[in-house]
Amino acid sequence: MQPIREQPRGFNLFLLPGIKQLIRWKYSRFLFQLPLLILSIFVIIDGFTGRQIAPRNVATASVWLHYRGFVVIALALFGNAFCSACPLMLTRGLSNWLKKLLPRQFTWPKALKNKYFVTFFLLAYFFTYEYFDLWASPWLTAWLAIGYFSTALVIDTLFPSGTYCRYVCPLGNFNFLYSSASPSQITAVDHDVCRSCADKPCLQGRYSAQTKPTKLPLQTNGPQETAFIPLTEIKNNNGNGFFPGCETDLFVPTIQSNMDCTFCFNCVRACPYDNVALSIRPPFWEWLKNPWARRGRLPVMIMGVLLTVYGLMNAIAMIPPYYSYAQFVADSLHTDSELLVLSLFFLGFAVIGLSLSTIFAVLADLAGGKGFKPKIAFMRWGYVTVALGFGFWTAHYLFHFLTGALSIFPIFEHFFAYRGFNIDPNWRMSQFVPSKWLFPLTAGISTLYAFLASFVAIKISLRDFKDRGVLAMWPMLIYILIFAVFGVWILAQPMEMRGTIFQPSF
Ligand code: SF4
Ligand code: SF4
Repeated sequence: MQPIREQPRGFNLFLLPGIKQLIRWKYSRFLFQLPLLILSIFVIIDGFTGRQIAPRNVATASVWLHYRGFVVIALALFGNAFCSACPLMLTRGLSNWLKKLLPRQFTWPKALKNKYFVTFFLLAYFFTYEYFDLWASPWLTAWLAIGYFSTALVIDTLFPSGTYCRYVCPLGNFNFLYSSASPSQITAVDHDVCRSCADKPCLQGRYSAQTKPTKLPLQTNGPQETAFIPLTEIKNNNGNGFFPGCETDLFVPTIQSNMDCTFCFNCVRACPYDNVALSIRPPFWEWLKNPWARRGRLPVMIMGVLLTVYGLMNAIAMIPPYYSYAQFVADSLHTDSELLVLSLFFLGFAVIGLSLSTIFAVLADLAGGKGFKPKIAFMRWGYVTVALGFGFWTAHYLFHFLTGALSIFPIFEHFFAYRGFNIDPNWRMSQFVPSKWLFPLTAGISTLYAFLASFVAIKISLRDFKDRGVLAMWPMLIYILIFAVFGVWILAQPMEMRGTIFQPSF
């Protein structure tokens, strides 16, 4: 068994009345997925057949405005709720059936068993979003939704279940990365119970019934037959049949990071001893445990830093100074190719972001007397950049969300009015808070996470450098200050109101 590690010991959310029974119920995930499945159907129908006006179409408004706002709110206040409710995984029934028609199961190539491939996908996704103005096209947004469902189906048919979530899905990996900021995590209730648990059903799945069948289903993460555990051994019995284990290969008593955890709660249903908790933890807990040194390593940290960089880039592309600078670059190169200019910006941001985070990390290590080891320094301090990145993404997405959250009502009214129902959409419903609150709120969130990043930097300094920690922290604190000032400056600029029909109005 992998070594059991220290885990958060905060309140177990499953102890709230009715929650454990709900989660252990075999069909609970389907219940969580149902609302987003219904929304996806609306997105596809309105995207293809509705009026092609982005702020009035369910596809563009719900995907680019509401969904993203709810994602960051859920990550900051709870955890990876949107992977938990992900309707893409409803293709699983079909992919399991198609698997049986294949001559054999393929294995995901070893070279792609890391986060480089999905990081490339994420960058391609951000690039496509800017280049094709996805936020302005209901039709393209509907195609994107179809693309997601089809890719999930194909990947999970050809390869073991969970491959799509872990190695391919850009949305899921955004959630995995930033659920490092979440205040909850899957843990084992009692590690001694895990030590004496021979079959590890939370990882491999289990089959339970009164009597053992002649043929058992295969393990969730391997080609062997799964363990048979008679019903008499199950604590708080939750039914007969096969209970799959963790499809992304997480073993409950060793988890120290939300990376790759989809909050599917398979582990909760599969554990025969009712020994899985959803523990409350401080939002900085994970960043101080250096968990990615054991799971994901350098590719995960590179993804984390690049996501921070593209968080800035995504916002900068909506403010006037960017337009002037992009024009300047285009004029200097004597080109009118948006593809070229945008590519240069994406490349430039990646190089500058990775370089700056490494340079400041190395300076911090040198100040602390550790010597010149860029990779180790980058891995040590990268969590600081991830904290800053989450703060900025949250501030940015909330800006759009707060300017258009209430438009969900007239947009759905319009969906039916457009199809002949006698409904008069009230388009005055849009903004969630007065305009004058937008900057203080978003700048406040970004600054709050800059303070959190400073706390993380100080704790890492004192943990790894002991007495010299007071010296090691300074380069990182200066880095955080530069990032925070730049972030607040971006948020103070007039920003393009993507996805809303009105400019801020009150
Ligand atoms: S199945 Fe339950 S008891 Fe066994 S290792 Fe997993 S969490 Fe621990
Ligand atoms: S089964 Fe794995 S991915 Fe699902 S909640 Fe448990 S640890 Fe997370």
